[in-house]
Amino acid sequence: MTEDALRRAMVETCRRMNASGINQGTAGNLSARLGDHFLITPSSLPYDTMEPADIVEMGFDGTYVGRRPSSEWRFHRDILKARADVNVVLHCHSVYATTLACHHRTIPAFHYMVGVAGGTTIRCAEYATFGTQALSDAALRALEGRMACLLGQHGQIALGRTLEEALWMATEVETLSRLYVQALAIGEPPVLPDEEMERVIAQMKRMSYGLGPEPEGANDVARPREVAR
Ligand code: 13P
Ligand code: ZN
Repeated sequence: MTEDALRRAMVETCRRMNASGINQGTAGNLSARLGDHFLITPSSLPYDTMEPADIVEMGFDGTYVGRRPSSEWRFHRDILKARADVNVVLHCHSVYATTLACHHRTIPAFHYMVGVAGGTTIRCAEYATFGTQALSDAALRALEGRMACLLGQHGQIALGRTLEEALWMATEVETLSRLYVQALAIGEPPVLPDEEMERVIAQMKRMSYGLGPEPEGANDVARPREVAR
């Protein structure tokens, strides 16, 4: 993807974050790897007025070109640097994920879809002041082996190889959080055993579960049939 196309796609993804209700106001931020550097949303600019030219170019050394980058550039930089499997970092204060984060609740395997984040839980990172290295360090720890985490008394982070995937992951985390908050209303729900979650995660990997209708490498026993027309 060219830089121009990526800038446009990032603005589009930000608008979709607002339209879907997972983000509001000037909360949230988004970054995407571009060669040996990355692009990141500017700080405190509402997404409905943001244009592709407002997206900030940033190096892994923390230098930038353009507007003031998101206050959370440290965790975007550190995640993209540490995780070769990730090209996109999305952060938002979606209501149900943040509700759980306010209680420092890690999401257990109360529902099999918790496995989409890559493990038996979606962890909640310890609280640290927004925009600090301490928050970035806590986020990296909570994201170990995972594609999403909650941030204590703050919000959530979702990762992806593409913008589409990161938006999908953030939406799944929000839906799971909503389900968990509701399930908790009638008591602590039972948790699926680790062996079952291992099966679920292996099955998700084999089927490229949730990653669109024709992802590369998807491997299911169901096969498309040739149909004579
Ligand atoms: P920015 O507008 O600086 O990206 O901050 C929003 C936010 O969510 C801080 O955690
Ligand atoms: Zn935030």
